[in-house]
Amino acid sequence: MTPEEFRTYGKQVIDWIADYQEKVESYPVRSQVKPGDVLAALPESPPEDGAGFDGLLDELDRAVMPGITHWQHPRFFAYFPGNASGPAILGDLLSSGLGVQGMLWATSPACTEMETRVADWMAELLDLPARFRGNGVIQDSASSAGLVAVLAALHRASGGAAARSGIDGRHTVYISAQTHSATEKAARISGIGSENVRVVDADPVTLAMDPAHLDALLTEDTAAGALPVMVCATVGTTSTTAIDPVRAIGEVCRRHGVWLHVDAAYAGVAAVCPEMRWINDGLAENVDSYSTNAHKWLLTNFDCNLLWVADREPLIGALSILPEYLRNTATSSGEVIDYRDWQISLGRRFRALKLWSVIRWYGAEGLREHIRTGIGLAGELASWVRDDPRFELLEHHPFGLVCFRPRWAGLPDEEADAATMALMERLNDSGDLYLTHTKVGGRVLLRIAIGAPSTGRDHVRAAWERIAAEAGPRDPE
Ligand SMILES: *Cc1c(COP(=O)(O)O)cnc(C)c1O
Repeated sequence: MTPEEFRTYGKQVIDWIADYQEKVESYPVRSQVKPGDVLAALPESPPEDGAGFDGLLDELDRAVMPGITHWQHPRFFAYFPGNASGPAILGDLLSSGLGVQGMLWATSPACTEMETRVADWMAELLDLPARFRGNGVIQDSASSAGLVAVLAALHRASGGAAARSGIDGRHTVYISAQTHSATEKAARISGIGSENVRVVDADPVTLAMDPAHLDALLTEDTAAGALPVMVCATVGTTSTTAIDPVRAIGEVCRRHGVWLHVDAAYAGVAAVCPEMRWINDGLAENVDSYSTNAHKWLLTNFDCNLLWVADREPLIGALSILPEYLRNTATSSGEVIDYRDWQISLGRRFRALKLWSVIRWYGAEGLREHIRTGIGLAGELASWVRDDPRFELLEHHPFGLVCFRPRWAGLPDEEADAATMALMERLNDSGDLYLTHTKVGGRVLLRIAIGAPSTGRDHVRAAWERIAAEAGPRDPE
């Protein structure tokens, strides 16, 4: 494809995306295809000769679009939102256009130094502790950030022995039942193993990790010869946005000499708003690593996670191997960061470009406005649910997520759960909105996660009225 051809087709693609943004609301939110439908719409074999770009967008419309679940739809309330803003998409396009592979400082100094700068911008925007400054890195996902944290923690706990000769089944990791499954996955991948992941009690009401129980488990395990590696605390759990007491957990970790990783994948970015900075409580004291996703709620398309460490030495110690073919003067000088040593894979995309584009376009105030809109709409939805006697509300909703369920007057719990799930399936099948569920105390709750850039008050109101109508008449008696 010549630059001239690229110019022609590139404009068509940009137009296609802009058209999509304009009409996204006209699609059913959740894709209505059945398994195999998209596969059947695509040619079984690749073309022998290049088929050109003409017709590609038609094929996209015909074969792919029916199989798309519209994450940018204003009535997408499932999981956590995906925020594909214009400046993020354009920043990503520039990254693709440059085609840089930024494994080493030397393979594109700008890729490394812009990442350092943008991670520092983010640390400043979120008012993170000073010791994280200069120690930030962009990962693809919070899962990768958690794995990297486990490996760094293992390196520190084993005095480097884990990297040299492996581990022997005595290392342990601490989570609560509310912690994202990514941490257990990281324990598996690192060789620690699922059986060595200890589950700390959580408060039955707040769902927050109990620091006293953590303390007891650490004491008990250490006495039995275990080697505790890492505690993962969560600010804003995936299920209900519960918040672990980071300060108290950090105090326990300090006493036991255990690495504390804080997973704030969804909620951490809310600290762009000064009134939300309380979620950073305890980060300045005993936290060794902290991670949040720009790609859930901060107007940046997947993938873009930020990870900060208080001390980069164990991270680099765990992950750096320097073969001859990667040696270069800049690396040898010790004056540069080679981010390949801060992540699992060698190669890396120039992800900082999209975050740079987002921050420059919106500015701190624009980012704050987006977060405040989400929090405000969630508060309104919660008030409507609270005022409707047919529903019960989980009162904890500090961010954009609201959890609730119909009371199903008179039904035993198991049938009420089935009725709630059936209600959700009917709503999702309708294409009018898309929501997901969770379980709290063994009971099913609906989750409405607000935060797509296109979502406004009318969309939330319409969704609520749709749910309330679907849940049945006002007076079941
Ligand atoms: C979404 C989420 C994750 C996983 O995020 P990825 O970036 O998709 O890996 C981890 N932890 C929490 C608390 C989350 O909400």
